[in-house]
Amino acid sequence: MLLEQLEPSGINLRAVLKTKPGVGFEYREDVEKPKINADQVLVKVMATGICSGDISLYLSGAYVGQAAGYPFIPGHEFAGQITEVGSNVKHLEVGSRVTAEIMVTCGHCDYCNMGERIYCTSVRELGAEINGSYAEYIAVPAQNIHVLPDQVRWEDAALSDCLASALHPFEKLSSEILKNIVILGAGPIGLCATQIAKTLGAKMVISIDTLPARLELAKQLGADQTINADQVEAVKSVQKLTNGLGADAVIEMTGSPVAVANSIEMVRKNGEIVWMGHVAESVALKEFLVMSRGIHIHGCFNSTWLTYERALHLMASGRVKMRPFVSHELPLSEVSKAFDLLMKKQAMKVLMKP
Ligand SMILES: [Zn+2]
Ligand SMILES: [Zn+2]
Repeated sequence: MLLEQLEPSGINLRAVLKTKPGVGFEYREDVEKPKINADQVLVKVMATGICSGDISLYLSGAYVGQAAGYPFIPGHEFAGQITEVGSNVKHLEVGSRVTAEIMVTCGHCDYCNMGERIYCTSVRELGAEINGSYAEYIAVPAQNIHVLPDQVRWEDAALSDCLASALHPFEKLSSEILKNIVILGAGPIGLCATQIAKTLGAKMVISIDTLPARLELAKQLGADQTINADQVEAVKSVQKLTNGLGADAVIEMTGSPVAVANSIEMVRKNGEIVWMGHVAESVALKEFLVMSRGIHIHGCFNSTWLTYERALHLMASGRVKMRPFVSHELPLSEVSKAFDLLMKKQAMKVLMKP
């Protein structure tokens, strides 16, 4: 499938390839233009973001090799302009400014049939199992496309996956008006979540991280309190800030086993926790606390079609700002530098332009 999409069409384009596991990515100027099928559109990529998932892919990429093949084009956060439309696609047109959801679903499994596409049993990821956006052009199934509101810039729209990922945990919470909320993690997704919490009327947003620069940014973007978990005991600090009750809601976005375990001790009785950070190992949990305190835990990953639409409207409204945490914009040719900066934690969010 992947190799087929890279077949010659006579035009050499710029793209970044993952050629095999464990060797990073390779910038090339001899990649062929993707061909679309009847249900896809071709999008000229204007800006593409690097997500934490892409860093794992850069370093290893083994799981991808099992599901698909090499070489493939990584990248799943992007915005661009439609240049071709497949013959079955009636609702989109050439020239439209768009972004796309990362998960390509099958459309006919039980979950797809039940309208729960997010749990599709044959899901494939753009930029991992299907060629992605680190290229001049990307072929995308039309069902994954979202049309951008006019006022949203390319650079912001390229981060819609980031904002949708930050918004999805809020859709899991039952309380409509948030009182005290803890956001574990002040990376790009955590910083979006901090802004969303304030937009939704949270009384106090507590942002927790271990990097001072990130916490500073969280403060600038609306966090009422920040906690450096390397310097103080985060659980005690949250208890103190909430009169010993704990927060009404805790959203875990780091994937750190310690943060996941702490989330149970930071939330109030009958409070809600959303886990959306990817935890690589199993976590020892005090399940007695969950039971005796009546804690509600929601699992959350990716986002739905509706989450994406809401995220784009939030961006258009100007209430959530993406620009403050984009630290670098680089050409695709500097992909190695981009990943280097991120791995050394010298960059917050990097955008690349083909
Ligand atoms: Zn992403
Ligand atoms: Zn399906």
